[in-house]
Amino acid sequence: AVKAEHLYKVFGKKSSEAVSQLKNGASRADVSSFGTAAVVDASFEVKQGEIFVVMGLSGSGKSTLIRMLNGLLDVTSGSVTINGLPTTGISAKALRTVRRSSVSMVFQHFALLPHRTVLDNVAYGLEIQGVRKAKRLELARKTIHLVGLGGWEDSLPSELSGGMKQRVGIARALTADTDVLLMDEAFSALDPLIRREMQEQLVELQAVLGKTIIFITHDLNEAMFLGDRIAVMRDGRIVQIGTPEDILTDPANDYVAQFVQDVD
Ligand code: ADP
Ligand code: MG
Repeated sequence: AVKAEHLYKVFGKKSSEAVSQLKNGASRADVSSFGTAAVVDASFEVKQGEIFVVMGLSGSGKSTLIRMLNGLLDVTSGSVTINGLPTTGISAKALRTVRRSSVSMVFQHFALLPHRTVLDNVAYGLEIQGVRKAKRLELARKTIHLVGLGGWEDSLPSELSGGMKQRVGIARALTADTDVLLMDEAFSALDPLIRREMQEQLVELQAVLGKTIIFITHDLNEAMFLGDRIAVMRDGRIVQIGTPEDILTDPANDYVAQFVQDVD
């Protein structure tokens, strides 16, 4: 459902020069005078209905990578398609259409509308998609219950704790009628019990809704629990893609082996 080919992102004025040097074998450090090479030659394909986890330390390029998938960030080089439709090298208008119809995103820092109630925030994605009001409120109420916020429908975001706000963001993305869900550290702000509950609910929801989920985390146990497959990132590069079992039993290099030592 999602296909990324040779993605590069360099932040800086001479980004294309940096990419051509990287393509000729230069290292990230070699091109540092041109800019920050946040993502270097990332390629992968995520199947319909799969939970694909991108795991790596802070600064390894996870957020940059996921933002290029839905065009929130321009690629410096490379291409992305979602359900066969390109999200790179197209007009802003064409991109909005793909985004509205196929991709929704849960952000690390919840982007809620402060003057709208929980119910309206959750229904908002459907409003953009043109779903009629009665239908969108019905769907929104359902997912609000799913994420454990039943009873809070009429509250404003300012009345909620951080963890609750994050659950509103998750409910909004789940409610939107899109195939692909991008989640950037979506559970990181939750306390451990609720976090485990949300992980279990996500796996259940995925089984029911059949969404394709790309989930970013720096938490190894979360990656192992959620991932059908895991991509391990280091310094902007994907160093291994495999099932949790592959990653544990057959790490591609010492870095991955070291990383997975701490799994519970
Ligand atoms: P992660 O999500 O894995 O923590 P990021 O994708 O946020 O990593 O960042 C990867 C690298 O790119 C980091 O070195 C970060 O400082 C840099 N970076 C991210 N966004 C920008 C930006 N807008 N401008 C310049 N550098 C950036
Ligand atoms: Mg990040």
